[in-house]
Amino acid sequence: MSRNKRCLPAVVLTVAVVMALLIVQGCSWFGGDSESSGKQAPQEPERLTCPLCGSEVADSSVIDRRPVAVKVENDPAARPQSGLDKAGVVYEEITEGGITRFIAIYLCRDADPVGPIRSARPADIDIIYPYDALFCHCGGAPSTLSMIKQAKIADLDEFGEYDAYWRFRDRRAPHNLYAGTAQLRQAGDAIYPFEGEVDTAFDFLGQAELDEMAAGRAGEIARAGAEPTGEPGEYEPLVTVVNNIYIPYTGGCKAQYAYDVASGKFLRYVAGRLHTDLTTGGQLSVDTVIVQYVTVSPSGIVDVHGADSPNLGVVGSGRAQVFVMGQLIDANWEKASRGWHTRYLDNSGNEIKLKPGSVWIQLVPATEQVSID
Ligand SMILES: [Zn+2]
Repeated sequence: MSRNKRCLPAVVLTVAVVMALLIVQGCSWFGGDSESSGKQAPQEPERLTCPLCGSEVADSSVIDRRPVAVKVENDPAARPQSGLDKAGVVYEEITEGGITRFIAIYLCRDADPVGPIRSARPADIDIIYPYDALFCHCGGAPSTLSMIKQAKIADLDEFGEYDAYWRFRDRRAPHNLYAGTAQLRQAGDAIYPFEGEVDTAFDFLGQAELDEMAAGRAGEIARAGAEPTGEPGEYEPLVTVVNNIYIPYTGGCKAQYAYDVASGKFLRYVAGRLHTDLTTGGQLSVDTVIVQYVTVSPSGIVDVHGADSPNLGVVGSGRAQVFVMGQLIDANWEKASRGWHTRYLDNSGNEIKLKPGSVWIQLVPATEQVSID
């Protein structure tokens, strides 16, 4: 900032084009200097993107704030949920009896309402930690709650009786707790002022790369169609074309994605039906789907029925599959410690770039296998 201010008179005193160029470069480097912008020669408009989901945003105020992470249930009685369509990143995790639950993380888009909101699980801490997000949930087992406290996560447990949460009277408890992410963030900011910057969790593809992938997929389909059949094993695809992804969750939570060429998104199904949003009625659609195989083990923390809340082994490394633009990219994941964002690497060890918009990370037991066609 101060460097820009010192440079400004130079523009007035000298008309040297080279100097002006240097200033322009300096201003865009430091970014957001409203005092000096507007007095310069026309600049390339700065593209602001969300560090969480890669979406382009018009205003930095929606990214210079704390992410909000909300625990949303996926019990069949909880569907359709609200607000999952606005999340930047969503994790789906297995809980007791195989029923899944979501951690929906919001930054550039708000959801009002989001829910039904339910309790925390042991795996949530390792997942949420690197996002520095406000953790919004409805209680949890005592040992889970004490782990949240020890990890010093910005915690907004509904049991703290914050006004940001409410219950819908026309839905039966416990499937009726909702909140708005703006109200949650407001309540959280009062307790945990956010002065940091949101760390980029993923690398994202640019438009030219997305176009190239779409062309690569179409080319592969044409090439495969033109190949003579009857010589199995000889045909080597250049890209792995994906039309459907089948995630073998149990407990009525079996998930499926169907690739939609027109939008470049994966459309979500659950238990054989469209997975819709209660508020909009629209089907959930996802830009990048990541399947992360994790080692499930008992945590010793049990629910009221005595069923174990599994540990999901999200710290460490393992196999992964990244689905972008109707293609499968074989991957490995690694997260050396709780503080790390998980990295998804291709077979050459390069970080895989994702499609901007929304990222859903499917945590799948390593004993299972996702199928595609
Ligand atoms: Zn975003």
